[in-house]
Amino acid sequence: MKQDIIKKFTKGQIHFCGGVCFEGRSCALLFVPESGTSLLISHEYAEHLRNGEYPDELLGKMLSRGMAFLTGESQLPDHSKSIEPNFFLIDMTQFCNFSCKYCLRSPEITGKRLSKQKLDEILDYIIDTCRSNHYTHISIQPWGGEPLLEFENVMYIHQKMKDSGIQVNISLETNGSLITPEVAEKLTEANISVGISIDGPREIHDAQRLTNSGKPTFEEVTSGIACLQKAGMRNIGSISVITKDSLKELEKILDFFVKQYPDMGIKLNPMHSPGRETARKMALEPEDMPEFAGRLIKKVTDLYKKGYVVRESRTSTLLRNLLCRSDSDLCHSMGCRGGRCMVIFDQKGDVYPCEMVDYPEEKITNIADHRDLKKEIEKAAEKNLYFKEKTSEKCRDCLWRYYCRGGCTSAVMYQNGKNAEINKEGCSLNCAMYQSLIELIVDDPELAFCIMEGREYPGKRMEE
Ligand code: SF4
Ligand code: SF4
Ligand code: SF4
Repeated sequence: MKQDIIKKFTKGQIHFCGGVCFEGRSCALLFVPESGTSLLISHEYAEHLRNGEYPDELLGKMLSRGMAFLTGESQLPDHSKSIEPNFFLIDMTQFCNFSCKYCLRSPEITGKRLSKQKLDEILDYIIDTCRSNHYTHISIQPWGGEPLLEFENVMYIHQKMKDSGIQVNISLETNGSLITPEVAEKLTEANISVGISIDGPREIHDAQRLTNSGKPTFEEVTSGIACLQKAGMRNIGSISVITKDSLKELEKILDFFVKQYPDMGIKLNPMHSPGRETARKMALEPEDMPEFAGRLIKKVTDLYKKGYVVRESRTSTLLRNLLCRSDSDLCHSMGCRGGRCMVIFDQKGDVYPCEMVDYPEEKITNIADHRDLKKEIEKAAEKNLYFKEKTSEKCRDCLWRYYCRGGCTSAVMYQNGKNAEINKEGCSLNCAMYQSLIELIVDDPELAFCIMEGREYPGKRMEE
């Protein structure tokens, strides 16, 4: 892939902002790092722009994508700093019936659960927040430990929010072991989205995910999935932690999901938080990330070429950023929007940004004070470390800065207690993913769009 800079220029009333031009086998991608916007063009048009000319056919697209402006117009809007708390995590329990080898939860924790009374107060506070801000549609995620240990309270959230008239998308991330036919039916009826933690085929899963008494869990987890399928649940997701060991089997993991569970969403989480001391050696390091990214993209593209549809979220989200300047992902589209859009309620009713419950100094407010959440976040954003912009020199010149902006704040803070630095693993992963995805776009744009949209590839088929 060829990569060069196309300089900015002004012609008549039109100001072209310049950008980076990537050229591959099929076409070129013009990309503006400041605004994260891009345009697919022919090699011939790229040459015109290099010569300070724009073909008339391109002008409309360049104007609508913010790559060119009429003199005096302002840049594209950027609402990454807007405060719209509409994704609420609720810490239901610290208990779990599993003891996965890499879990951040300390096995010594005896566990606490959220009382019904506190849950009621939290929901009242969420409802008040929605009413005073005219939010009609929000998301709630009961959080754990294992949230289905609190199944009755999960259903209570559903009922109370339904009675409030506010539209709520309730989502759960669960180890799946407590999903019986009855639980599956109730979750399906309530339209609750479920993500199941499953690390791949039996031998890979059982090497990492064990019960508290050290027994393998694959059988229980897959029987939970079968109950959900039988109950007619759609859009079941999977969440897999990729460790140093399971990275060796990445292709096998993707084959497993695509062939055993073709309708399931796939979310691969490379383990890069230090976690427990004993788990440290399982974590991927920055040097492992280019390999993870390269093999992931190669396998996903091969599967599409063989006629499969792979619902893998990282590749599709990052492609959506590059091709559509999407703002859909709270973590990856416009930098981390934890705290501004996503907050967590702990079991005392304290409110924190994202998952920062272990950092008392990051507390935003407590529900008992009945303060306006948006205003409290505004105040916290002025003084709390969590909200400080990351100042790394590396980010200033990075091509992917619009989407990443230094990456996941909680990963950095849990790693080193500071916010100013970047998360090296996340940085290495993003750099490798974006570079390889751009290469895919300019070599085979049709395939890139199929992956982004999760639809079958109509191109030439590859043999199994
Ligand atoms: S199921 Fe989740 S909370 Fe429970 S031990 Fe495993 S990773 Fe930790
Ligand atoms: S802190 Fe990390 S997990 Fe939380 S919103 Fe930001 S990027 Fe996402
Ligand atoms: S953390 Fe890395 S990938 Fe992200 S903006 Fe900074 S330099 Fe770029």
